[in-house]
Amino acid sequence: MDIKGLAAIVTGGGSGMGAETARHLAKAGAKVAVLDLNKANADAVAREIGGIALECDVSNEASAKSALEAAKQAHGAARILMNCAGIAPAARIVGKDGPHDLGFFSKIITVNLIGTFNMLRLAAAEMSALEPLNDTGERGVIINTASVAAYEGQIGQAAYSASKGGVVGMTLPAARELARFGIRVVTIAPGLIGTPMLLGMPKEVQDSLIATTLFPKRLGRPDEFAQLALHICENAMINGETIRLDGGVRLAPK
Ligand code: NAP
Repeated sequence: MDIKGLAAIVTGGGSGMGAETARHLAKAGAKVAVLDLNKANADAVAREIGGIALECDVSNEASAKSALEAAKQAHGAARILMNCAGIAPAARIVGKDGPHDLGFFSKIITVNLIGTFNMLRLAAAEMSALEPLNDTGERGVIINTASVAAYEGQIGQAAYSASKGGVVGMTLPAARELARFGIRVVTIAPGLIGTPMLLGMPKEVQDSLIATTLFPKRLGRPDEFAQLALHICENAMINGETIRLDGGVRLAPK
């Protein structure tokens, strides 16, 4: 798929991997709508890349619908949905103050899993009504962001791992269902990427995580994530799969 001129939506586009993917998509010629809960950050990225910024809570039906409508008015319906919005707080199942708060568990599932699905379903419905881009019938691509914690979550990550495992799990059935519209669904499972989410952790935690990375022994960079996202857009044979981007890391229990 040639990205040039296509409308793209990037959720969580105000920060980290989403922001970097928005920059890369714009550089490749896409018309980018930057969606984020944090409007000020989305504004800054949109200004930088000549895109539009929209405040959006991906987990809220009305908010997601209205952001997609505004993006459509500005750029036309999106051919690329990049789901990057997410949160990663941790808590033990049995902590010092008793059992894991149920509302806290629900919140993480709601943002990371239901939010991803909310955007996927709404964007897919719009994409499926567009004309094919070429004679193979290709209409667009949806890229989700999971985590290696979907496979080897650490102590304290029960909710986060469950949310990301859900994203991995829905990738194939979504790709199978949307194939008839020429829409691909692919998920990236990053390892340890140097974004505000990870750089906010104590230095010793970061160092212990880096120590478990095979090679290269460093945090991944948001631009390495963005490069993979662009390749997925361009390479029509990548579909229905979760790709790890992790330097061979396998997270230890803690
Ligand atoms: P980030 O810099 O914190 O960016 C995430 C963005 O999503 C923030 O701007 C955040 O806004 C926004 N967001 C949070 N909840 C939202 C909601 N309900 N609706 C819309 N936007 C929302 O994090 P990142 O590291 O780039 O993470 C991007 C994705 O990669 C996440 O899904 C994360 O779980 C995943 N991931 C990250 C790593 C890593 O090492 N960094 C590894 C594996 C997977 P606020 O700042 O207002 O919360």
